[in-house]
Amino acid sequence: MSSSQPLRLAVIGSGPAGVYAAETLMRSAPVKGGELQVQADIFDRFPAPFGLIRYGVAPDHPRIKGIITALHRILGRGDIRFLGDVEFGTDLTLDDLRAHYDAIVFATGALKDADLPIPGIDLDGSFGAADFVAWYDGNPDYPRSWDLSARDVAVIGNGNVALDVARMLSKGADELLRTEIPATVHEGLEAAQTTDVHVFGRRGPAQVKFSPLETRELAHPHGVQIVMDPRDLEQVTDAEWEAIHADKRTDQVVQTFVGWLEQQKEREASGAEPVDAHGGAVRRRLHLHFWHRPVEVLGEDGRVTGMRFERTRLDEDGALVGTGEMVDYPLQAVYRAVGYFGSELPEVPYDPERGVILNEAGRVVDAAGAVQPGLYTNGWIKRGPVGLIGATKSDALETITSLLEDLREDRVPTAAERDPDAILRLLDERGVEYTTWDGWMALDEHEKALGAASRDADGEPRARVKVVDREEMVRISREGMGR
Ligand SMILES: Cc1cc2nc3c(=O)[nH]c(=O)nc-3n(C[C@H](O)[C@H](O)[C@H](O)COP(=O)(O)OP(=O)(O)OC[C@H]3O[C@@H](n4cnc5c(N)ncnc54)[C@H](O)[C@@H]3O)c2cc1C
Repeated sequence: MSSSQPLRLAVIGSGPAGVYAAETLMRSAPVKGGELQVQADIFDRFPAPFGLIRYGVAPDHPRIKGIITALHRILGRGDIRFLGDVEFGTDLTLDDLRAHYDAIVFATGALKDADLPIPGIDLDGSFGAADFVAWYDGNPDYPRSWDLSARDVAVIGNGNVALDVARMLSKGADELLRTEIPATVHEGLEAAQTTDVHVFGRRGPAQVKFSPLETRELAHPHGVQIVMDPRDLEQVTDAEWEAIHADKRTDQVVQTFVGWLEQQKEREASGAEPVDAHGGAVRRRLHLHFWHRPVEVLGEDGRVTGMRFERTRLDEDGALVGTGEMVDYPLQAVYRAVGYFGSELPEVPYDPERGVILNEAGRVVDAAGAVQPGLYTNGWIKRGPVGLIGATKSDALETITSLLEDLREDRVPTAAERDPDAILRLLDERGVEYTTWDGWMALDEHEKALGAASRDADGEPRARVKVVDREEMVRISREGMGR
């Protein structure tokens, strides 16, 4: 494309990967000696921006949710246009985008659960963690109610999402009233019958992917007692202990487990009543089980009644092997938190094994490795659903470096349509009720006002209450846009 005209950029997805990709390009070095002018539009299928920070990060993690403030500042500057409630593949095709933009970055993340292919996984009462997360975080595309009638619940997985789910299942509804959870979620959690939450990991305490902070946080909720099985730590070999002490993060996590087990043993020896971490009465127990490989979800009349596991151990080479010992747990609900999986986008080359867009250093390539000119990708859909928000920033640097290289080498095609408002006319013609930054500002204000009018369990006003009905989100946003 000619360096005399601005680069027209479309980003699909307004999660951190999309925002950082646009921002990195805006701040990038001049191309061919001249200042690089960029006209950037960020599209999202939701009326509200920020992706999984809004619809994935747990509501009781305000510090992480606060990253939204940084993204808000970027999008609020006015040099990157936000267009919400526009779905790539439904409202706009690849041809539409190619006609209006020189370069397109796909940053569509991941929203679905990875599979856990074991018998019984489709029984009623067996849920994907991603669906539960979407419910408690008020994702507009998910049902408003959630069945929390189970007393004994399993969470399968040993990553931070498993911890979020276990904490949300064990924490009291009123403790969460401090957060931005919608009223429907508070009502659902208040009615929950949960007494015991069991978290199962295939490997040992030293192999968990928990962060030290989130591990300690498990014991924070009022009325929750952590329960450990002494056998799980006794099984850790001397060689493993050496490895644990050699890694600070692992050591901190495992020392937390050791501390909980010691307290549990002391209490059992003294015959004292169990208490929570604040010395209060126990309402729910959170059991941590290691060395448990999921074998089958057990059921009766189509509903979950339990789960069978095989105990595991590490062999001499450090490989995980089954011991042949089967253990059954009576349960009424199972949540699998075994990872997220990225979805395929129409006409965009995709790897169905890994759930990612085929790419080399952020350049989209086809199955034969041929670069698709003008197409790029970033974030979870580029490298798989692992890594924290910060990783999408370094990721963006790689993708945008590739784009800049292509610009210098004249490898970026030129779109025929140069008028920035042409895309708005196309959306209007198609009856797509898109939302804009002004629309988000109106919705943001509305949610803050709902929070100010509502009270937490201490009688304090809340910072925000989320609107979850998509039509209401669009209506409030469009009113704010004067539409
Ligand atoms: C449950 C959970 C808890 C987490 N907690 C933390 C945490 O505490 N700290 C931390 O650092 N990280 C956390 N993460 C990780 C963090 O959320 C990710 O690293 C990050 O969100 C990935 O960014 P992304 O932009 O690639 O994807 P996303 O955040 O998923 O953004 C993708 C965006 O693309 C949009 N989109 C998708 N398809 C289309 C389409 N066809 N058309 C238009 N738009 C589309 C989506 O609506 C979404 O807004 C958590 C993740 C999960 C799942």
